[in-house]
Amino acid sequence: MRNFSALHRQTNLEEMAATEQDLLVVGGGITGAGIALDAASRGLKVGLVEKHDFAWGTSSRSTKLVHGGLRYLKQFEIALVREVGMERAIVHRNARHIVIPEKMLLPIVEGGSLGQTMSSIGLWVYDLLAGVKNNERRRMLNKTETMDAEPMLRKDILNGGGLYYEYRTDDARLTIENIKSAIQHGANCVNYTEVVEYVYENKKVVGAIVKDHISGKNLTIRAKKIVNAAGPWVDTLRAKDTDGIQRKRLHLTKGVHIVFPYDKLPIQQAVYFDVEDGRMIFAIPREGVTYVGTTDTNYNGEIGRPTTTQSDIDYTLNAINKMFPEANLRSEDVVSTWAGLRPLIHEDGKSPSELSRKDEIFEASSGLLSIAGGKLTGYRKMAERIVNLVVKQLKSEEDTYQNLKDCQTLNMRLSGGNFETQEEVEQFIIRRSGEVTQIKVPGMYIKHLVHKYGTNTDIIIEKAFELHQEIQDPELRIHKAELWYAIHHEMSISLCDYLIRRTGRLYFQRQELGNLYPILAEMMGELLDWDESKTLREMAKFKKEYEEVLDFSENLVLG
Ligand SMILES: Cc1cc2nc3c(=O)[nH]c(=O)nc-3n(C[C@H](O)[C@H](O)[C@H](O)COP(=O)(O)OP(=O)(O)OC[C@H]3O[C@@H](n4cnc5c(N)ncnc54)[C@H](O)[C@@H]3O)c2cc1C
Repeated sequence: MRNFSALHRQTNLEEMAATEQDLLVVGGGITGAGIALDAASRGLKVGLVEKHDFAWGTSSRSTKLVHGGLRYLKQFEIALVREVGMERAIVHRNARHIVIPEKMLLPIVEGGSLGQTMSSIGLWVYDLLAGVKNNERRRMLNKTETMDAEPMLRKDILNGGGLYYEYRTDDARLTIENIKSAIQHGANCVNYTEVVEYVYENKKVVGAIVKDHISGKNLTIRAKKIVNAAGPWVDTLRAKDTDGIQRKRLHLTKGVHIVFPYDKLPIQQAVYFDVEDGRMIFAIPREGVTYVGTTDTNYNGEIGRPTTTQSDIDYTLNAINKMFPEANLRSEDVVSTWAGLRPLIHEDGKSPSELSRKDEIFEASSGLLSIAGGKLTGYRKMAERIVNLVVKQLKSEEDTYQNLKDCQTLNMRLSGGNFETQEEVEQFIIRRSGEVTQIKVPGMYIKHLVHKYGTNTDIIIEKAFELHQEIQDPELRIHKAELWYAIHHEMSISLCDYLIRRTGRLYFQRQELGNLYPILAEMMGELLDWDESKTLREMAKFKKEYEEVLDFSENLVLG
């Protein structure tokens, strides 16, 4: 199997440039990762390049739900709701460690968008479309039952509620688990490598010139087919093609999430509630915090750096305080934020919330294929559709491709996801928590690790045992083992890769990071052989991100 260590990154990239690929995927978000896995598991030789880190774009900045999109029922997007609704269970089955059932409460309020009867019918249809099992179907609640389910809800306007199932996930980790699975099937995926222009022969695109942002060198990668899966940058990459942007174009909308310490918004369970302007917002308790989002506003700024502004904060605070008045939240209570861009497809006259979340494929006369729209939840189906097209084209062009397999991902467990039931995940946590007491590591660390790395936690535990003599402090020992894993098994090359996308700590444990990140930077320096100035630069880079998540100025100047 290909080595996915940060130390092998250069070799992997050179290898990619040395032989023609069947398929070059541009973009290492969930869409590109899903495509790489689907194509590699059918037998194609696949290269994937990502200009920053894997999941650096929208795929680390979503609401982090694998959900059917209840809201889209109101827009009669029946086919979309059915498809993503069914995909939820498939993604859960294939990655039980990171796609976890989450009961959601839909409060029914005076003046809300749906009354008791419509909510009941809506949730029933939602379950039916997704083929939800009997014991997980929606349950309608009266006012008292709803208040019991969530005592913090505003009572004077509450009429009742509906409880139904969704799944929560970690978007960046779902992306990296797909990338690792693609690697296991022979794909070659490299971060910090940007497509800067295409290479043509006879007016057909036959490759791309990429810039390696680590070495600073340009390389040419040749490929039979190129898929542009660059999310919000899809049009930037279409514009580089001889065909340019024909017919449809992207429409970017920004969504912001804000994070509170759990004790500031101590809700018992996840809630999906109406806002005065007709939008709907999630409030989700998780890992010692509660996060709330999202906004949905047109975006015309720099694609690379959407930020949270004071007006985003005010809008969200206003919505939460109306639904949870006892919380009385203020800007000062916010402990972290993130902002992301939806790469939607433009439709004349539609507002951000009305734009369809359907995905579409654009086929240029040069042969360049682009895919945009869609949801994190539907990534596997998006991948299947575009790889079907790639395979069809290859088969019609060359005999050597006649024996390619059909799509393999329906029942394919992702890296770390070798569990048959949720109980198996829990049993695994209990067993491993017991084992690490030998090296005095508190069991609670194991739960965190398993919900990130699944069965791959064993590799981290083995490393922690190895470090037993070297590091006396059990907490630091497990931190170093986890960091070692991120470097050697997940191509983390910078402190930001590790603290933002491999572990999500900047969002969920920002308060603990102030003291911890310099220690982790030193450890990373030792593992990657950095000199002192490199370690200091990495610390400074992270500190900037650390500060920016709480800088809400409208004209934040970003480096
Ligand atoms: C606020 C918000 C909340 C959301 N919540 C949910 C949710 O809860 N559930 C859900 O199912 N969906 C959700 N979505 C939608 C979902 O997050 C996106 O559909 C999905 O993440 C898009 O993934 P992507 O891979 O297409 O794009 P991205 O993740 O942006 O990936 C594209 C990648 O391409 C790279 N790239 C760009 N240019 C180049 C180049 N020249 N060379 C190489 N690489 C390049 C970028 O760096 C980037 O990493 C949400 C979206 C937003 C914005």
